[in-house]
Amino acid sequence: MRAFEYVVARDSAQAMALLAEHGSSVKILAGGTDLLVELKSASHGPQVIVDISRAEDMKKISLTGEGLSIGALATHSEIMDSQLIRDMFPALVDAAHTIGAVQTRNLGTLGGNLVTCVPSMDSGPTLIALEALVTIAGAEGRRQMPLTDFFVGPRKTILKPTELLVDIIIPKKNLGKPVHFLKSGLRKGQALALVNVAASLWVDKNTFLEPRIALGAVAPVVMRATQAEAYLAGRAVTPEAMMEAGRIAAGEARPITDFRASAEYRRDLIAVLTKRALENAVLLAQAKLKGVKK
Ligand SMILES: Cc1cc2nc3c(=O)[nH]c(=O)nc-3n(C[C@H](O)[C@H](O)[C@H](O)COP(=O)(O)OP(=O)(O)OC[C@H]3O[C@@H](n4cnc5c(N)ncnc54)[C@H](O)[C@@H]3O)c2cc1C
Repeated sequence: MRAFEYVVARDSAQAMALLAEHGSSVKILAGGTDLLVELKSASHGPQVIVDISRAEDMKKISLTGEGLSIGALATHSEIMDSQLIRDMFPALVDAAHTIGAVQTRNLGTLGGNLVTCVPSMDSGPTLIALEALVTIAGAEGRRQMPLTDFFVGPRKTILKPTELLVDIIIPKKNLGKPVHFLKSGLRKGQALALVNVAASLWVDKNTFLEPRIALGAVAPVVMRATQAEAYLAGRAVTPEAMMEAGRIAAGEARPITDFRASAEYRRDLIAVLTKRALENAVLLAQAKLKGVKK
């Protein structure tokens, strides 16, 4: 690893000042679970590392006027422990639980997971199925955008080196929306996803309302299966419809063959996992209709 200067930011304002001071030679450190691995093998690294891991104002998980705000520095363990998230979106807890082992979840942050932007990231699908927004802070101030626009390609986001991902917001209209996450890897623990899927929806009079399906590890970035969503919207809730949506989702994904699995196997997984995620989201939605807590 090459030598670098190390500075600590005590809050997001100081982090912004340090990023502006050091320009493009700077790199942000949150939990370090991705960055340190990268730095060990990089031929040339940053001159300055700004450690934001102690910036308390970026760790908050709270309800705001906009929706559920999750600070970019919330760790996967903190997401699993948050009563607010457990009550509102157990699928986010399920997704966090599949990330690495306890040590990785204690250090790794939601923001770091999204910024690293590997197609198999486990926090992406549920957030995309819930139409999450991200807040970015830069020299020109703050801006918000859908998470889908934040991802540009494998390991590439829209962030500039001097910009900070501040928080992730699940919009008010989707608070409490039934959502289910599923992941398939080569083994249960400590494995990257071969495919991960999240489905969110409402059900009214046995009809699908606002179905959203997000797929990970099957395209350059986490993607929405918009054709499958369009097929389901307004359609009667039947096992056949969910099976067909899975088939359509498998068709619109762009999986690759690599040492973990073939593209064909991944397509089969997409069809099966999408159907199962939809079935589980429907059960949650129906229970909500009846006023039963699931
Ligand atoms: C053993 C092991 C197992 C793992 N298993 C999984 C798994 O199963 N599923 C999975 O999805 N991931 C997995 N990961 C990946 C990793 O743990 C996550 O991506 C983690 O959430 C990264 O967060 P971090 O805080 O450690 O990021 P860091 O390593 O600190 O940073 C990652 C990148 O994001 C940038 N960054 C971080 N925070 C911000 C911010 N707020 N604003 C702007 N830029 C920022 C950094 O500059 C860096 O480029 C695993 C990692 C390890 C080491």
